[in-house]
Amino acid sequence: MLDTLIKNAVLLPMTAPGEVIYGANVGIKDGKTVFIGRDEAEAASVIDAAGRLVMPGLINAHAHTAMCVMRGYADDYSLKAWLYDKVFPVEARLDERAIVAGAELGIAEMLRFGTTSFSDMYFCQPAVAKAAERIGIKANLCNAVLALGDSYVFEKDRAVIETEELLKEYGAKGPIRADVSIHAEYTSPPEIWRRVHAWAKETGVVTHIHLSETKSEHEECIARRGMTPAAAFAANGVMDTPVLFAHGVWLSGDDMRLIAESSASVAHCPVSNLKLGSGVADVHAMIENGVNVCLGTDGVCSNNSLDLFEEIKLAALLAKGKNLDPTALPAYEALKMATVNGAKAQGREGETGVIAPGYDADIIMINTDAPHLRPIYDPISAAAYSVQGADVAMTMVMGRVLYKDGEWLTLDVEKAVREVEEYAVPIVKGNRN
Ligand SMILES: [Zn+2]
Repeated sequence: MLDTLIKNAVLLPMTAPGEVIYGANVGIKDGKTVFIGRDEAEAASVIDAAGRLVMPGLINAHAHTAMCVMRGYADDYSLKAWLYDKVFPVEARLDERAIVAGAELGIAEMLRFGTTSFSDMYFCQPAVAKAAERIGIKANLCNAVLALGDSYVFEKDRAVIETEELLKEYGAKGPIRADVSIHAEYTSPPEIWRRVHAWAKETGVVTHIHLSETKSEHEECIARRGMTPAAAFAANGVMDTPVLFAHGVWLSGDDMRLIAESSASVAHCPVSNLKLGSGVADVHAMIENGVNVCLGTDGVCSNNSLDLFEEIKLAALLAKGKNLDPTALPAYEALKMATVNGAKAQGREGETGVIAPGYDADIIMINTDAPHLRPIYDPISAAAYSVQGADVAMTMVMGRVLYKDGEWLTLDVEKAVREVEEYAVPIVKGNRN
């Protein structure tokens, strides 16, 4: 007997361009999809998906989830003032309890909007890993190494200690995974990159890095090293193992070819890049050059939501506008970035990102009753251009329903909100000591 049968769906399996299966059933057992099609089978639980869109869960490939505690705290500042005057001082005050509170709120939001897996760079990740594990969402977690100043000692760095803890506990397999991370080219020297890379080589995990987010960062690297940040990472061997680069707003054509030739991916974060005035990444050119481009929200403090459907639509619109070409980044390609390509970037290719037999049942269902979703000529177009995160009616990870019709089944959302507002917000405001 099946564990779950999703019945009569408008199915977007994301296994072939433009493919839609009407009246599809999806059979789920032991956390995996066992069949799609017309078959009927007995199931412990039946989900009626008549008239609803069913598609793979979305993958947020670049987040700082706990930054949810700073939602709307620092808007409309210059990037430098935002980071140095607002974000860094708050982050110096945040303790583990506040970070876990922010992460739980962010996970609640992600599940609400159809995200089933996220790649996250932040602090206190061993504790966040426990929270994600308890709630049931998939996550690739890292704590980025920054090595600034002469007194820096690698072995004593909190990020290093936490990374080693994560690697020991989780590694490169399973729903919760350790990643390793170099914060960015400008926040550590090449000898530190090589030490981070040694972990990746030894364990097979993904290396998560901020890359060429701003024009000044990109140009200052060229002035300092005589090469771009991507070329500098490649020259130091960092791209010999899978790398997930975030942003890539200022990449050159050579950078794109270098990234495509390695097994690296780029997480495009259009909302954050626009909100911080960083620019518009040339996703169309990246794809033309063969780069695996996925999507990320970045932190809520520069977004201010974790709704990947917003990123999907915006990515498509920006690619069209930037190239003066409405055929650039069509709907299916934009959806693929948030599913198939995200899975590849996380090292989860063959595990998630599509709905097909043998894959984990990481599946979302979208309510299409709302006026803004009628009529539907093409479900792929509807999913890319009309659906909003709030239209998600059900989010399932490994066959387990985590969110359905306004209810979170594995997390107390009221408690998560209360914990952020009563415990974390006073720390953000600097009123708690
Ligand atoms: Zn970031």
